[in-house]
Amino acid sequence: MYNKTMARPILKEEEQEQEKSLTDSLRVIDRCDRCGAQAFVMIKGSTGDLLFCGHHYDKIMNNPDSYTKMMAFMLEIVDERHKLIQNKLVGSHN
Ligand SMILES: [Zn+2]
Repeated sequence: MYNKTMARPILKEEEQEQEKSLTDSLRVIDRCDRCGAQAFVMIKGSTGDLLFCGHHYDKIMNNPDSYTKMMAFMLEIVDERHKLIQNKLVGSHN
């Protein structure tokens, strides 16, 4: 009895955490599809997800042709480039 009531909340928390890290944020192991650098933007599309570093995301968005294609493809965008800025600031101290 006690085991059951104790185990449930722990499992629930773990599940929520995993789900969150998979759907809402990019991890260090996520890499840009173009250059292999750490990805900071995820574009969720009808046929799959695309990952881009800040540089290549800018490049696509600044190219009218790529931009149009991307807009047609994307359903949702996860933009975590604020992390890039934080990383640079941290890196400059090392
Ligand atoms: Zn890139």
